[in-house]
Amino acid sequence: MTARLASLCDGFETVVGLEVHVQLKTRHKLFSPALVRIGQAPNIDLDAVDAGLPGALPVLNREAVRFAIRLGLALESTIARQSFFARKHYFYPDSPKGFQTSQADHPVVEGGVVFFVVDDATGAEHRIELVRAHLEEDAGKSLHTDTGTRLDFNRAGTALLEVVTTPTMHSGEEAMRFFRALRGIVMAIEICDGNLQEGSMRADANVSVRRPGEPLGTRVELKNINSPRFVCDAVEHEAARQRRLISRGDVVVQETRLWDADAQNSRSMRGKEDSPDYRYLPDPDLPALVITDDDIAAERATMPELPGARRRRYVEAFALPPAQAAVLVDDADFARLFDGACLTATGHERAVANWLVNELAGVSETAVTATSPQALARLVTLVETGELAGRDGKTLVRTIVDDALADAAAVDAAVDARGLRLARGQDAEDVVRAIIATVFATNPVQVEQVRSGKDKVKGFLVGQVLKAAGKGVDPKLAQRLVDDALAGS
Ligand code: ADP
Ligand code: MG
Repeated sequence: MTARLASLCDGFETVVGLEVHVQLKTRHKLFSPALVRIGQAPNIDLDAVDAGLPGALPVLNREAVRFAIRLGLALESTIARQSFFARKHYFYPDSPKGFQTSQADHPVVEGGVVFFVVDDATGAEHRIELVRAHLEEDAGKSLHTDTGTRLDFNRAGTALLEVVTTPTMHSGEEAMRFFRALRGIVMAIEICDGNLQEGSMRADANVSVRRPGEPLGTRVELKNINSPRFVCDAVEHEAARQRRLISRGDVVVQETRLWDADAQNSRSMRGKEDSPDYRYLPDPDLPALVITDDDIAAERATMPELPGARRRRYVEAFALPPAQAAVLVDDADFARLFDGACLTATGHERAVANWLVNELAGVSETAVTATSPQALARLVTLVETGELAGRDGKTLVRTIVDDALADAAAVDAAVDARGLRLARGQDAEDVVRAIIATVFATNPVQVEQVRSGKDKVKGFLVGQVLKAAGKGVDPKLAQRLVDDALAGS
């Protein structure tokens, strides 16, 4: 039963809207020449503008504008020819200026849609409409220690695009799939590295419940969720909490809560009464952001195939199951490796997908980014043409990653060095047939059992053949020839 059906069973429908902060991989910060890097010592990448020193003037980074245009194109949004920056005031130590430069009533990107698969079996898609996406700067980081709070402003001023959806999703699962699809898009158009551990995408989930047909219920906002899985957990947990409240006659109060992924729980941060008044004001230091047709045309010319189109292509051209196609396109690194490997492993695309998703991806966190498409293609071709046994392929996957085998020749060398190459052709078949004859002669009872319908015993016979044949014989070949021999007389 889907989560949506489950929630409807007790008479409630869950409603979700997401606000996702996408950290842009610009070289410099949004309004200063300071570099954007991770893993630096605290307060290294900091400019007078980001530190909020009086008199320091912001200059808009055009690379961030290019990224906003790319996002607008990818999401089929309206790209505003003129948009404006505003100051959002709040006091918090990690915001040195006392305000965040953001966009209020006139964002750079308006509307848009994201498509994603909601039903793995049928490949059915949902289409979620967006409200907007706006440019804004990130805050610094507070590090709370035993001796006090330390501030690191390296991240302060980093460019973000905040993507806001309409409240039209209806379960944690759906919100999770939206988040994954958005990640696939921003990675594919090369505006974000999609690194969830580093917080490159952070979502606020707005959740309410209602009985079908009623107007939207009171919403609760869950802050700062950094992975698709956590979005799912947080939404389901919150929707259940609200259903419990209403069912026992209480009301949901509008508030902001913080999701604790470790505890699988949320706690209140602030209610509606103490919600900050941001006093948005037009930023007097920044002129209107103007985007011309030429700016848009330049980005359009370098847009890659988008994940949605790519997913449909994989399903149509290679007959991949929709769920597997979605896994591949939701991560640009997966898609790049898959496409690259398919160039040489033509005709074995489904096998490439299986080896990539089921084996390679599990070897290590960096396996997919580090593997050469030629090596993967060669491995798959060897297995598919019967030169390498499937179980040996699984071992070889690890070798390809560990030893960073760069091309087909390196894979072949590894196969031969380990003596894994299977004999093929008429000679090999004759050898196996001779072994089968011996095995059948020494196990007449089992042969009779299989012939009279005890199919399970066949595995025993094949096992005996492989044992006698040793390494170098393709189990699939042995299987086939045993079948032939059983049918033969
Ligand atoms: P604000 O500007 O105050 O943050 P918005 O109305 O722009 O509020 O909505 C912010 C986010 O909350 C959007 O993603 C929107 O889809 C979502 N949202 C708004 N109302 C609801 C609701 N009743 N239930 C769930 N999500 C909601
Ligand atoms: Mg908001």
